[in-house]
Amino acid sequence: MSSSVSSSCWSQGERKSDLSAADSDINVEASLGPELIRDEHIWFKDGNIIICAGPYHTGDGPMYGFRCHASVLASRSPVFKTMLQLPNASGRQLGGTPCVDLLDQWEDIRDLLRLLYGFPIVLPGRRHPDTLKIVAGPMRLAAKYEMDGILNQLAPILERDWPSKYEDWMHAEKEFEQDYYDRHPDEILTGMTVDEYQDPAAAVQLAQQTRLLSILPAAFYDLSRIYLRTPAIRKPDGFFPRCANTRLLSRDDLERLAVGRERIAKYAAYQLGQNVWGELITGDALQLKGRCSKTDRTCLAYISSWLRTKLAGSDAMHILSSDPMISLDRMAQQLEADNHSSEYLSPTCHTCRSWFAHLMRKEAKTLWDKLPEIFELDSLTS
Ligand SMILES: [Zn+2]
Repeated sequence: MSSSVSSSCWSQGERKSDLSAADSDINVEASLGPELIRDEHIWFKDGNIIICAGPYHTGDGPMYGFRCHASVLASRSPVFKTMLQLPNASGRQLGGTPCVDLLDQWEDIRDLLRLLYGFPIVLPGRRHPDTLKIVAGPMRLAAKYEMDGILNQLAPILERDWPSKYEDWMHAEKEFEQDYYDRHPDEILTGMTVDEYQDPAAAVQLAQQTRLLSILPAAFYDLSRIYLRTPAIRKPDGFFPRCANTRLLSRDDLERLAVGRERIAKYAAYQLGQNVWGELITGDALQLKGRCSKTDRTCLAYISSWLRTKLAGSDAMHILSSDPMISLDRMAQQLEADNHSSEYLSPTCHTCRSWFAHLMRKEAKTLWDKLPEIFELDSLTS
């Protein structure tokens, strides 16, 4: 993960904010209107259209100009294609080149056009808190102007952080945890500063706005783990608990969050235990087949007792219901370890414990695959 991200995500230079190098004819025309700031990259000498945006619309600042090619815009966006066929509403020109005024944020237009023209974009590492800030603007504009190529280019960045497969999610979780400990060797993960995280509420909002539905199950699951809306309370160790800005969510998405969180809690409280005990019949069969290496074949009873301690009690239930993916994986890891101080696990054989570890991960994967149903996301795709 990169250690920091500069104010600009673009790798080449900084934006020039003066007109000293501008074409003289454009200087003359610009001096009659709002101050013009040419983009350092999107200002092609053979460009035949200037996209203008910025706070000049309300008289609060300069106009940012992007001289580009109408044919390029039209070929990548049906919306631009239609728009550019219409008569120029303002009739305004700069240096003989027609201007098109857009009311979108000028920074978003800049990023969109730079992506369109293939300028390299520097992206932070997995789950970096700045990733959403970097891709949200151009993605929203790409959705607005129906630029599928840009959406397809940026979608994998978010799908990397909120993947649809259980294995990818667990890989991301473990990589993030390891990365965090590397950077903060003396800290505990639960006391992480809010700046360390992306806000999954913002991811849900962006996914809905851009129809990137593939990230919604993981983003809702991530969101369901967070109970604070604002980082109001600084913990004694100086860290804020993780929070999510649920004000970004629509009413429907708030309902999805509430219903899904309730279902996960019920799963942890009832269904998980039923599934595990139901599988014990299969465990009996396994032992009867003679794969257990203990002559008295008591592993099953010991592991069952160990599981009961894990699945019982309010503390255990809270942890399990707030993040069953991690809880089940940690139980699997404990079962797979060979040295145990636990009075329940130390008398058991590796074969039986491995079978239970497999059971835990199978449970987690089954639950993960049900996330679209749990958060009622299926209706979005129909
Ligand atoms: Zn055994």
